[in-house]
Amino acid sequence: MPLLEVEGLKTHFFGKRSVTKAVDGVSFTLDHGEILGIVGESGSGKSVTSLSLMRLVDHPGRVVAGSIRFEGRDLLTLSREEMRKLRGRRMSMIFQEPGTSMNPVLTVGFQIGEAIRSHERVEPAEVRRRTMELMEMVGIPDAKQRLNQYPHQFSGGMLQRLMIAMGLALSPSLLIADEPVTALDVTIQAQILDLLKDLRDTTNAAVLLITHDMGVVAETCDRVVVMYLGAIVEEAPVETLFDDPKHPYTQGLLGSIPSIEEKVEWLQAIPGTIPNANEIPTGCRFSNRCPKVMDVCHTVDPALEFVGEGHRVACHLYTETEDRDV
Ligand code: SF4
Repeated sequence: MPLLEVEGLKTHFFGKRSVTKAVDGVSFTLDHGEILGIVGESGSGKSVTSLSLMRLVDHPGRVVAGSIRFEGRDLLTLSREEMRKLRGRRMSMIFQEPGTSMNPVLTVGFQIGEAIRSHERVEPAEVRRRTMELMEMVGIPDAKQRLNQYPHQFSGGMLQRLMIAMGLALSPSLLIADEPVTALDVTIQAQILDLLKDLRDTTNAAVLLITHDMGVVAETCDRVVVMYLGAIVEEAPVETLFDDPKHPYTQGLLGSIPSIEEKVEWLQAIPGTIPNANEIPTGCRFSNRCPKVMDVCHTVDPALEFVGEGHRVACHLYTETEDRDV
């Protein structure tokens, strides 16, 4: 059984005059010890997907359909209290801006310790020992001294390490990392991504990595889900996705990364911008930006179908559609 099984997830936001379908029928699985990337532009629904998993979607949004099975339980049927216990203990989340996620007037040691104390009855000496251990595990030097320091005394990279330490305080089986390196410079980015991979290897925790950056995906993930306008348009093992991207949107995302080794078919940004999620085009949701659009694309929404082992794509270029104009 996979660690996480998401089926037909829909999360919508209800405005006075319109409904924004931020997540519009998403299904995927995640195994123990696996790093799965969810990639897409801003507005693709990837962050709302991760918040839905944690049941942290704020009003006026709510999950309107689907199931989220985690360690065999459907999270959408749990009470608030059951869900609170699960967060932190079995699944935890780290965000893009580590500085804003920490309280500036409390020491980092207190804040990491709080992640332990809020779920377990533990003696203060034991909390301190485990806090130091966590700080060492994520590569903070002089942990014994530094746990008495405040967030402003740490660099952005070190703060993100502290956030990861907090996320791992209770040895969760799933860590959701939403754009964890976007705010960091390139050298520090590589260190944090290496740290996530090392932690996966040592703890066997699964990581769901939300990112808009294909470079981060290539560096870190085992498997990738590409989202566009609330839906999955392609899913594949990471090597397959980079060697043989099928969906024109994925090809566009990869085409935006310059390569000095290979000639790519079209090296340019994807034309246009992602529409609002309350204005999803009929037929294929990518049709108004797709360079390979056909007549059928304007009327029929392509299903996500297998085109190879572990490789699924939602595009009429790969389906047997009788009235296709090719
Ligand atoms: Fe492009 Fe049509 Fe494929 Fe959509 S279904 S990605 S519009 S070719």
